[in-house]
Amino acid sequence: MPMTFKEREVQELEEVALREIQTGKSAEDLDRLRVKYLGRKGALTQILRSLSRLAPEDRRRVGNEANRAKESLESALNAALTALKEARRAAPPALDVTLPGRRFPLGRLHPLTRINQEVCDIFLHLGFETVEGPEVELDYYNFEALNIPADHPARDMQDTFYFNDKVLLRTHTSPMQIRVMEMRQPPVRIIAPGRVYRRDSDLTHTPMFHQVEGLLVDKGVTFADLKGVLTAFVHEMFGPEVGLRFRPSYFPFTEPSAEVDIACVICRGEGCRVCKITGWLEILGAGMVHPAVFEAVGYDPETYTGFAFGLGIERIAMLKYGIDDIRLFFDNDLRFLRQF
Ligand SMILES: [Zn+2]
Repeated sequence: MPMTFKEREVQELEEVALREIQTGKSAEDLDRLRVKYLGRKGALTQILRSLSRLAPEDRRRVGNEANRAKESLESALNAALTALKEARRAAPPALDVTLPGRRFPLGRLHPLTRINQEVCDIFLHLGFETVEGPEVELDYYNFEALNIPADHPARDMQDTFYFNDKVLLRTHTSPMQIRVMEMRQPPVRIIAPGRVYRRDSDLTHTPMFHQVEGLLVDKGVTFADLKGVLTAFVHEMFGPEVGLRFRPSYFPFTEPSAEVDIACVICRGEGCRVCKITGWLEILGAGMVHPAVFEAVGYDPETYTGFAFGLGIERIAMLKYGIDDIRLFFDNDLRFLRQF
């Protein structure tokens, strides 16, 4: 007996439903399919309900077919659900080893630390050794031995933080000249980086800042050696094309003394706000060591000569990076620091 139209409809429905059950990926998918075909308004349920409208001889055959399809779908749904549960139990959460790792936020060196290292590196290559000393210093090392006696007007040049008459926060790194020369005989070739303190605060001054002191002592050292070393430093630091000049100046512990300017790195010597229209920027002070300083440490000024220099790390960092407010270095705002 040929299959009726209704029987074929049941079989096609079953086939489509079985395919959909196979592609179900979750318990929710399978639930949705159960409702779609076997629920109260489901497709197969509709067919079973409509059996009464069929002719009696068809009713039995279509009824058998629909019931068989219903059982087939129910067992397929149950099997699929069991398989899903098994699969979840067998496979742990997927680990994709090809995913990029989580990055830790990386710190970086403070711009002042970097400039300080750069300065020390340059002098290291010129044969200078790095030494460090105390920030809480005796008046003797900070002033007295550097040819700045108690009544010397040069003490007014620096506003000092005193603990008492004899102990203070060093106002410059120059005391390290004395400390090293007391301990060693020439030749001496050192730089001394470190923090120094002065009562001063504005756009270009902070109460604490960083200096690098330099000292070279030997037989026959001349001002030409001073110029040679500092010119080599400036060219290494700011580039070989940058011009520099030496201006006569005064420091109690050097004679003669000079201030060193470089051609303005902002306007290239044209004149701008940073260089106050002069085209030049002062970057360090220097001079030949004063005989009185040699006498204080027991060196014979007739035998030995030498030169000393001091430069400010903040000053160099401001010029190198084009920063016009020194306080930015100490605010430690990450938006500022991340630019370096
Ligand atoms: Zn300028």
